[in-house]
Parts: sequence; structure tokens; C-alpha cells
Amino acid sequence: MNSRAFPEYDPHAIEARRQAAWRERDLFRTPDPAEDRPRRYIKPSAPFTSGNIHIGHVRSYSIGDAYARFCRARGDDVLFAFGFDSFGLPAEMGAIAGKVSPSAWVSRCAEHMTGQLERLGFSFDWNRAFMSSDAVMYRWSQWLFLTLLEAGLVYRGTGTVDWCDTCQTTLATIQVEDGTCWRCHNPVRLIQRPQWYLRISTYLQENDRNLEELEQSGIWDENALASQRFVLGRVDGVELDMQGEDGATLTVFTPHADAIEQARFVAVSPRHPQVELWAADDGELRERLEELRAGGLERAAREAETMPLVDSGRALSSLSGGAPLPVIVTPTVDGRYGATAVLGVPERDRTDAVIAERLLGDLPADAAGAQLASMDTRAAVRYRANDFTISRQRSWGTPIPIVYCERCGTVPVGKEQLPVLLPLDLKPTGEGNPLAERSEFVNTKCPSCGGEAKRETDTLDCHFDALWLWVPVCVPPSERNAPLEQILALDDLRAWLPSERVVAGSDSGNFVFDQRTVAKALRDIGPLEFLKDGEPFAGCLFHEMVIADGRKMSKHLGNVVDPDDLLERYGADTIRLAVLYAARPQRALNWSDSAVQRCHRFLRQLWGYAQAHLAPSADGAASASGAQGSGDKVTTQDGTATRDDAGVAAMGPDKTEHLRVRLAKWCEIAVEKITADLEELQMHSAVRNVMRMFDRIRDYESRVIAKRGSLCREDRDALIAALTMLAVVLTPFAPHMADELLATAGQDPLHAQPVWPGVSSEVPA
Ligand SMILES: [Zn+2]
Ligand SMILES: [Zn+2]
Repeated sequence: MNSRAFPEYDPHAIEARRQAAWRERDLFRTPDPAEDRPRRYIKPSAPFTSGNIHIGHVRSYSIGDAYARFCRARGDDVLFAFGFDSFGLPAEMGAIAGKVSPSAWVSRCAEHMTGQLERLGFSFDWNRAFMSSDAVMYRWSQWLFLTLLEAGLVYRGTGTVDWCDTCQTTLATIQVEDGTCWRCHNPVRLIQRPQWYLRISTYLQENDRNLEELEQSGIWDENALASQRFVLGRVDGVELDMQGEDGATLTVFTPHADAIEQARFVAVSPRHPQVELWAADDGELRERLEELRAGGLERAAREAETMPLVDSGRALSSLSGGAPLPVIVTPTVDGRYGATAVLGVPERDRTDAVIAERLLGDLPADAAGAQLASMDTRAAVRYRANDFTISRQRSWGTPIPIVYCERCGTVPVGKEQLPVLLPLDLKPTGEGNPLAERSEFVNTKCPSCGGEAKRETDTLDCHFDALWLWVPVCVPPSERNAPLEQILALDDLRAWLPSERVVAGSDSGNFVFDQRTVAKALRDIGPLEFLKDGEPFAGCLFHEMVIADGRKMSKHLGNVVDPDDLLERYGADTIRLAVLYAARPQRALNWSDSAVQRCHRFLRQLWGYAQAHLAPSADGAASASGAQGSGDKVTTQDGTATRDDAGVAAMGPDKTEHLRVRLAKWCEIAVEKITADLEELQMHSAVRNVMRMFDRIRDYESRVIAKRGSLCREDRDALIAALTMLAVVLTPFAPHMADELLATAGQDPLHAQPVWPGVSSEVPA
């Protein structure tokens, strides 16, 4: 027998065939949640509709998909679906470049990306996919905005934004290139304008407290936990009360509990509420604060040398008297400790040293001192995380459901009137604000008095959409158009939340942090009351990115790996296997073709070997002896093997029983290891163990042949059983080939029963 007797490994044909079979059976449809089966909502990241799937997406979804397929094979109910994050600047820029409306642009991108993801064979439930820019979806953002506004967690403040006079538009940070406008290259200046803010300070302590439990759960990986700690920016120290000349007290923090006597000044954040009170009856201070804010708190250089400083003209001293410390207002506080007041300790802190030099150069070194040291202090914590703006002066976003009425002021739109629709035929050019120029959008009636009013023409940043983007896939498609109050009352939300595992890139820390914050707000407000600890994600894996030659991939460097090219050359199973094999998720994957070659060779060899051993022979029995596969290095046997169905009895003494026992033991151990790897999402290790299992099977065959020249029926049965088990454990990683091999072995790879080795098809208790 030679390789011509079996079909060559043809990934394109196999993959098209398997994908058609999955579609036909609607195999990845989310089951109705049942009481008696474990439920896992595996949350992939929501891709921006940027145009193309890149190799980073392939890595991310290959990890999540392997886990989803593993969980289904064990008999769990799995929800694995996402929505496209289709609002925002990248889509708007893409539309400008393509000279089409953003809605047409994102539809085209989503369709293309869906096709790419389908060809890669990811087992998403496409019935639940959605686009955040669809009206039925962005009403969620509008509802959330109004709900958080009622709860005092959304508020209006003043922010600083980059402004281009030529284009008459505000610019995002990435649209400012060396201080000039990306579009017209004229200089950009900072302006102040009203902005909407999300208040996160209310939940910082709880987000912090819960980290310990998340860590103990064992299913939050170290990257994800570290990102949450980083965003939170916790600083431990002490606080003490100080008193102004007017008798009012101010609580002041320092991380340097043992150096309080070295404090030389008090630094206060411009966002500290006390600053407003001081400015209220101090015209000069008010003016200087205006200047400071116009300079831009967010964008001001992070260096203490250039950060704005305002002398408040005030001083604070300890409650027990002593020399007062001067008080300055500076945004250098915010980036280190949040919107608070701190002691300036030049001996301990470089920023404080610079400030002291700039403001207090001639201050006597011992101006304050002993009095402060004797003061009562108490342990305290501050967080660097701050409230942030959620509004943008751009047209491609969720309209903010607010109207401005001359008589009533700022009036929220009633929830029953949602959605406030975004005109779909907008064609942004990068100039002006297209939404503000649409009179049929802007002019409306005041929900309160019925008089003439104007709509808010800012839209919500797509980061705001991301706050809830993890919820709607829990809703059955048939309920998607129902009123939101009805949707939020569905048992489905209670069944699927919290998500059992988030699988996302390690740059998702801010998203996850803010989602955790909003989940707590919605728990307290009511709709997510069933999430007792306010945690939307029971587990979380953050993988690192894919790089090339040790550098980030970019068109500019010409080192971008295109998944479509790889798909064309090797097929989906090879790419998926390669991104899993090449590195553990927590490490950057430095792209190399050798991992692709290695994985492709493995699949080719396995294909050839399995065809030779699993495919039924002419007489109906599986052929388990000596055929050469299409791959190289396949252990082969010459044509002398007997092709009859002789068992041990017919072939003399059983010289190979111990080999069969050992093969079974090898397989059992391999499956245990692969299962443990999959439970921990250590896919690189799982793939290696799958490859080793194949080596063991081939090793077994050559030993049997060495012993008795050919395989008896029992030997052959053992080999087929091992190969079949190998096909099952290959399913999470190279699902097309695995299904094809199972079909070759006469099994139905599409059955709904649990198939993972060691899992009983009985419903677990
Ligand atoms: Zn410009
Ligand atoms: Zn009114």
C-alpha cells in the first residue's frame, strides 16, 4: 500500500466541508440554559470594525475557541459570542478615507471580518453577534447613560480638548501629530469645553477589595490581576487633618508616614472639592485656576518641571499649632494619588523635590517640622484611578440623550423615548461636527415643557459602549427588540452572568476595570442585583500580543503577518495550532515561520498516518498496519504484514500485551495532562502534549512490529482506540482535521453528547 491510496492532506477541502457541516447543524447555537448543566459564558474581546482580522485576533480567538470547544465536549452549556465595537474614531477615519458613510463602512468591515473568522473556523454563535452601532444596541448605551446620570455617576464638567481652528473640530490625541492637525497640519490649540464624565471613585475601594478574592479564584491569571492593580493605582500611607487660618480643616495624605516632619508644602489636586470653595471667594485664585485648566490637565506634560503650579496663597498647619505649610494647587497630584491633597516631601519624592525647588527655593529647610511629627495620623489609602470623560465631539457615536432648553436647562430624554436616532447618512470629512449641522437632528421639543430645544450634539465615546458590550450576547436573539426593562428581567442574564472567562489582549485592562465598576453600579441600582459581589467576570485571561523580530507589527515596519495569506497557504488548522503552540498566552508571541512549518508538518503526518490506520479497508476492517502517509518521517512497515483479521489466538503467544497496556496508560496520562492544560488555558502546553501523544502511538506501532512483525487484531484495535482518542483531544486546537478524522473512524463528530475522554454522558450532579 502506498500514499496514493489515501487522499492527500487538503486543508481547504477539509475545512470547507467541516464548516458547511457545522453551519448545517447550527452546531454552535447557544443552548437554552439548563439548571443541571454547568454554564460557561466565554467572553472574547469585541473587535473594532477596523477592516481586517489581524494575527492578534487569531491568537486571541484561537485561545478562546479552544476553551469553548473543550467545555462543550465536556458537556457544559457554552455561550461564546461577541458584538462588533463599531462606533468610534477608527471607523470614522476609515469612512473618511473610503469616502463613504460610517454606517456603510462598518457594515462592509463587519461582513468581511465575519467571513475571515468563519474561514478560520471559530465556533462563535453568530446568531448572537451584533454591532454596537445598530439603534437596537446603542439604546443600551443611552439607557445606561440616563441610569448612571440619575444615580449621580454621570456628571457634567469642564474638560480640555485639542482644537483645530482650520477644521473647526476637536481632535483626539492620536489625531494630533507633533502639535499639528492630522488633516490640515496646522497648529492645534487646547480649548475648554463642557464634557460629560463618568464617576468611578465610588467603586474604587470595592474594586480593590475584590481583587484578593479574584486572585484566590485561581482563574484570574497574573496578567489580568496585574492590569487591574495598575489601573487602580493603589497607594498606601497615612492621612492627617490640617487646619487653615479660617479654621476649616483639610485631610492630607502622604505615603511617607515616617517622614512627615520633612514635609515642606501641601499639594492639592485642581479637582479637589476644597479648591472650588477657596476659589469661590478669591478672584485671583479663580483666575489662576482658569489658566491652569486652560493649559490642559490631561495633556499637560507629565514632567514635574513643566506641570502647572498655582500658589493658593493659603497655608495649613497641624491641629496642635506650629508653622503652617504653604498650599499649592497642581495636577501633579492626580497622576500619583488621584484628586486629593498630599504632603510635599522633597526628601522622599522626586516630583516634590522639583516642585519645592520651583516654588519654595528660598524656604527655610526647617520652616515646619516637629509640630507635624507629633500629629495624630491614621492609616489611609489613595487611588490613582480617576473619573474620565465619556463625551466626544464626533458624529459617529451613540447620541447622548440630553436636550438643552432655554427655560428648563439641561433635560434628560425620557427612557421610554429611546433610542435617540443617529442619522445614518452622515458623511464626515474631518471638518466641523456633521451632527451639529443637521438641523432635523438638533432641533427638537423639550421633554419637560414641550418648547423649542436643541439636542446635545456630542456623542458617547465608544469606551462607554464597551461598558455594557458584554451583556447583550446573553439575550436570546428573539428577545433582542424587546423593551430594555423586559430584557433586563430575563432569566438568561441570571443564567449566563457572571462570564466564566474573559479571554482578551493584555491591553484590555482599562476596559475590564471600567466594566467591573459599572457592574457594581448596576448591581446597586438594581438591574444586576443578582451579581452579589458586583464582579461581571469570574475568570479572566489576558494574553500578550503577537510581535515580529521583537517589535510590534506595523505596516510602517513591513513586518505584518496577514492571516489571509497564511490561510491560503496552510489552512486554518495550521494557523490556529501554530499561534497556540508558539508561546504560552502570558508571553509575547514572536512570530516565526518555523512554528507554522512545525505545526503544518505535524498535521500532514497525522493526516497520512490516520488515513492509513483509521480508514476502513476494502473488507470493512480498519487498516491498522503499515501504510505510508502523505507526510514525511512516518514510521512505516514493509508490505509483508498480514492483512487478515487474525487475533492473538491465531498468531501464537501474546508477546505484545504489555505494549498495549503501556499504550493505554500513555494515552490516559496524555489526556489528563491535556485536560489540565485546557482548564488553565495553557494551550501551548496542551498542543505539545497532543503532539507527544501522536509520537507515542507511532512508537507503539514500531515496537509491536519489532516484536512480532505485524499487528494482530488486538494490537490494531488498541491503535485505533488511541488514534480516535487523539482525534478527540485535537478537537479544541485543529477542529476541522479532528472532525474529519473522527468521521473517518466512523464516529459522528457532530453529536451533542459529551465526548471528552473521562467524561460520562450522564448528566453531572
Ligand atoms: Zn485641521
Ligand atoms: Zn423646557
